Amino acid sequence: MTMGTMIELRANLKDLKLSTMARNLEASFRQARESGIDYEDFLIELTTSELQARAENRLARRTREAKFPLLKPMETFDLGAVPELDIRLFRDLAGCSYIHERRNVIFLGRSGTGKTHMVTALGLEACRNNFRTRFVTCYGLVNELIEAREERVLQRLLQRYSRYDLLILDELGYLPFSKEGSELLFQVLAERHEKGSVMITTNLGFADWTQVFGDPVMTAALLDRLTHRAHIINCTWESYRLKQSLKEKRSLK
Ligand code: ADP
Ligand code: MG
Repeated sequence: MTMGTMIELRANLKDLKLSTMARNLEASFRQARESGIDYEDFLIELTTSELQARAENRLARRTREAKFPLLKPMETFDLGAVPELDIRLFRDLAGCSYIHERRNVIFLGRSGTGKTHMVTALGLEACRNNFRTRFVTCYGLVNELIEAREERVLQRLLQRYSRYDLLILDELGYLPFSKEGSELLFQVLAERHEKGSVMITTNLGFADWTQVFGDPVMTAALLDRLTHRAHIINCTWESYRLKQSLKEKRSLK
């Protein structure tokens, strides 16, 4: 192959937005010549490298946009430590079908039971499956909303929050909201109803949600929508950290 042909081919690939193929072209040609593979295998190798690079870039972009506080993937969650967890459901959630079905997921339980870890791991799976994902604490979201209203950009922010395929709301109930705050949060959740999934972690039982939202009528309407067709996971077990330190103490004896 002449240098001119190589340059033309590379330009074509770039025009077709196949930049990884363009970049790998020369090396792949050299390899193909050396190993004597045929045209079909050569093309398969070249196109596979393009697809792989795209999947990696997509995952990086989705993960960046999701704004996870810590990157804790599925492999770092020890299922053996939580025998009470419905593992079939958890694996099912990792497959993301609830996002296709626009169902919500609610994790209820005490502090330290791994709720944030689990929703982070599930959120990363959603990113891997190319779903637009966003992780935010309830407190952070409410502050963002109040600020946006003050700056007269609330509509734009509400629109952004309605476009995510999966919205992860961490720590509902840790801090109560102002009346304005709970109305704004209500608006975000109402917009998403049956349009996109919401995943919530909370230390509150449903009966206590009125304490956080204030208005009992609004809270009832919110709960009705959020829990409709939702997967509810009760984290009834002890705090993971507590269990670990008890284990350590026992092994020191
Ligand atoms: P919560 O959000 O319910 O308060 P976290 O997700 O913050 O709990 O968990 C507390 C700590 O324990 C975190 O560092 C988390 O990574 C770890 N942890 C909890 N459960 C597990 C588990 N099953 N396997 C591995 N680490 C866990
Ligand atoms: Mg947490």
